[in-house]
Parts: sequence; C-alpha cells; structure tokens
Amino acid sequence: MREYKIAAIPGDGIGTEVISAGVTVLNKLASLQGGFKLSFEHFPWSSDYFLEHGHYIPEGGLEKLKQFDAIFFGAVGSTKVADHISLWGLRLPIAQGFDQYANVRPARVLPGVKSPLRNGTAETLDWVIIRENSEGEYSGHGGRAHRGLPIETATEVSIFTRAGVERIHRFAFKLAQSRPRKHLTLVTKSNAQRFGMVLWDEVFYEVAKEFPDVKTDRELVDAVTTRMVLKPQTLDVIVATNLHADILSDLAAALSGSLGIGPTANLNPERSFPSMFEPIHGSAFDIMGKGVANPIATFWTASMMLEHLGEAEAGRKLMVAIEKTTEAGVFTPDLGGNATTADVTNAVCRFLES
Ligand code: ATP
Repeated sequence: MREYKIAAIPGDGIGTEVISAGVTVLNKLASLQGGFKLSFEHFPWSSDYFLEHGHYIPEGGLEKLKQFDAIFFGAVGSTKVADHISLWGLRLPIAQGFDQYANVRPARVLPGVKSPLRNGTAETLDWVIIRENSEGEYSGHGGRAHRGLPIETATEVSIFTRAGVERIHRFAFKLAQSRPRKHLTLVTKSNAQRFGMVLWDEVFYEVAKEFPDVKTDRELVDAVTTRMVLKPQTLDVIVATNLHADILSDLAAALSGSLGIGPTANLNPERSFPSMFEPIHGSAFDIMGKGVANPIATFWTASMMLEHLGEAEAGRKLMVAIEKTTEAGVFTPDLGGNATTADVTNAVCRFLES
C-alpha cells in the first residue's frame, strides 16, 4: 500500500471549511480506490495562532513540514492582522523556503457553470497560467526610511535572475508541450520596464529553441486582459511574473465562473521539497462561518495534488466527480445556487461512489 503524508494547514476564514471538505473527499477517494492511503496531520497555524503565540510558523516548523509528501493549504488573511504580516508570516515562507517556484493555475469553464463571458465555454476558456513564484515583484527586497516625515521613502525592488527566469520558462514550455494545443503566450511589460522584463523576453526566446513544436506569442500584460475577455479561445498556456500572473489568475478564475473554482499548485518541480496545493481564493471573511464556501477550488487542487504524488488515475477520477457535480447544478451561492459546502462535498462523494 502506497502511503502519502499530507500536512494540512487550513489557516484562516473559509480555509478551515474548504480544507475540511477536501480531507473528507480525499479520504473517500482513497478508500474507494484502494492501493494508496493518505495520512493527514493538521497544523493549527493561522492568524489566531499568531495573535496567541507571536508567530505563524513556530521554530522548527519548516523543518517538520519538509518531512511531508505534500502540503494542503487553505487560506491566510484576517481582519485582525495586516495582510502583509499574515502573508509573509505563513504562505510566503513556505513557498519561498521550499523553492516552490512554479505556480500552476488552471482555469476552465466546468460543465454546467456559467461564465460571465458571452463566449465563455469549456471550448473557448481552457487555460493554464504559470506564475513565477519565487522572485520578481514579491522577492521581499526593499525598505522604508524617514518614517512619518514628509520625506518618507519606500522601495519595493523586483528581482529577476537569469536562473529564475530560465527555469520558469522551461517549466512553462514543458507544460505547454504536454497539452493538445501546444501554445504558450509570454506576458511581460517590456515596453515600460526595460530591464527585468526585457530579460524575461530574451530568455523566453532562448528557451523556445529547445521546444520547436510549441507555438509561441507575446503580449503586454495590459493587452492580455482584453484578449482574455474578448478572444479567450486564442490562449492556452500563459507564463508571467509573480505579480502579473497573480492578477491575471484572479481574472481567469472569475471568467471561468467564480473565484471559488480556481485551484493552484505551488510546485518544486525537482521534488527537493514538498509542493503546496491550495485554492487561489483568500479567507473570504464575508462568508466565513456560514457554511456556503465553494469547495470546488479545493477539490480541484486536491486532484492536482494526487497527480503530483503519482496517483494520476485517482486525480482524474476526482476531476470527473467534480465535473458531474457541476453538471448536475449543485452550486453554492457564488455560482448562483443555494447548496452548502456540505451539499457539494456530499455530491462529489456520491459521484465518486458511482
Ligand atoms: P486574498 O487577498 O487573500 O486573495 P481577498 O480578500 O482579496 O483575499 P477573497 O477572500 O478570495 O479575496 O474573497 C473575494 C470575494 O470572493 C469575496 O466576496 C468572497 O466571498 C468570494 N469568494 C472567495 N472564495 C470563495 C469561495 N470559495 N466560495 C464562495 N465565494 C468565495
């Protein structure tokens, strides 16, 4: 029996609700599928934990996490802690500390789901956004001086290294190569930003020579937003920087129906460290505790986690159960329905059984 150790970090807000739903579905799947077992260990690291202990991750916490096969993460963010403290306290130390440099964000209109786009269907909107996840605009370099004075200064330095850019492009090309359309769009802003973004463009075309079967094109980040809305069918895989892809993938999730659908995988492709799987949405205070959080993003990321662990068949099975659930119209309020998180979870479990 193959056994995988999963660290579950529900975090804040609806993170706790969707991770609990995800664990239910994953355990159901493992029991039906046979052949593998998932053992979950829960970590209580959250903003409440921070307020009580003064830290999100206790000393030795990252060392402990390293022993797991994967991390199943909910959300971080609370009204009681400034966002830059919570993000840099929990999610970023894991993503950066474990060199999870490839952030994979699929977006697709699932069966039965209505896209806000007039022409948004499963045939026209089927993308994967690859976000560089270790440097760029979120590298954490910068500082503030002369606090509180009129001459107060703040810098936020974007870091782009040839090694960092090259590895994300190579990852994106490989992923594009594995998809039927084999198309990769490079998104930068190399007209206004003439150093880091120009390096991105140059390295992209160097790496492209290794992948002659992948079609490529290039778009500025502002222009690609209009293309996403007006010509979704012309996009397949998109590679962009940490900040740009962060924004584009929220748009992609909304265009595919709801922020509650979009999954993400923070991958360390070399497998030197565990990878982390999470929904792209945040802690959504406006709906927390009401039992109506959409768990689909979490189920989808669970399917990606299974694939990463080498259980691709189980991952596919989970995806089919998700699609049958959306096709049957079992929707939480964000998708226009009145189902609860538990209703959607039960529906997915039923479809897994059948
Ligand atoms: P972050 O900055 O952490 O990404 P945010 O505050 O910008 O978070 P979210 O917490 O993701 O954004 O919520 C944005 C909106 O989307 C809210 O109105 C929220 O209710 C809705 N939303 C997000 N996730 C879900 C979900 N799983 N189910 C239903 N609605 C959701």
